[in-house]
Amino acid sequence: AEELLRQSQKMEAVGQLTGGLAHDFNNLLTGIIGSLDLIQRRIEQGRSEELGRYIAASKAAAGRAAALTHRLLAFSRRQTLDPKPIALNQLIAGMEELVVRTVGPAIELRSALQEDLWATLVDPNQLENALLNLCINARDAMPQGGRLTIGTANASLRGHAAGALELAPGDYVLLDVEDTGTGMSEEVMQRAFDPFFTTKPLGQGTGLGLSMIYGFARQSGGQVRIESELGRGTRMRLYLPRHAGPALEAGTLPATADAPRA
Ligand code: ADP
Repeated sequence: AEELLRQSQKMEAVGQLTGGLAHDFNNLLTGIIGSLDLIQRRIEQGRSEELGRYIAASKAAAGRAAALTHRLLAFSRRQTLDPKPIALNQLIAGMEELVVRTVGPAIELRSALQEDLWATLVDPNQLENALLNLCINARDAMPQGGRLTIGTANASLRGHAAGALELAPGDYVLLDVEDTGTGMSEEVMQRAFDPFFTTKPLGQGTGLGLSMIYGFARQSGGQVRIESELGRGTRMRLYLPRHAGPALEAGTLPATADAPRA
């Protein structure tokens, strides 16, 4: 029931945000139509010297409108999951080069991978996206540099421990992304999973990364948790469901072949 309440509160928030975006979108359209009107009148009057300015303004407004719809689409797109038995340590190893390139030389990269890690049953593309997003957030939290640690572990959750995480009791594979960055205030932690919540400057954050990771984790039968201390750093922990059998061989994962590399 608590989860249902949380979900309906989230939907309400999405509704408010969608309304806000529609309002902004409409303002931009009004500006574009106004500029086009002026252009048309100047052409009719044979005065074309001001046209460049109006055209530039229309194009800028149209560009912002397109960016708004892009964000909305990215958020509302129904993510269809295609779960596969994954060897998480291998998936992480396969992404190392990309992560190194993404975080840059000022950040020291460490890994703490558990040997004999259980296989996990999740969509490999979504998992790669989630991991990359967590690394980008960690990087952004360490503008002065720092240490980023990626860790894995097996975890058996029984009764209480599982309940506290709103998970069914059972076996899970943990994925930790830990940074020595700014950390989050209580308030930021409360809102971090809300769609469109961002503390980053305009144009740099969409506020969608963590909400999508939350959706991915819950839809996969897992969970995501934040541990953070202001001035010390943050640990993001993904709980992924265990797959009882063996993982697919690394090379046979479609995700390693066509994962986004940008
Ligand atoms: P975005 O990164 O686009 O802002 P996210 O949903 O990924 O959107 O994150 C929402 C907010 O949560 C961020 O703007 C930031 O304030 C906070 N946050 C996320 N990860 C971290 C982190 N590792 N350290 C500190 N703050 C973080």
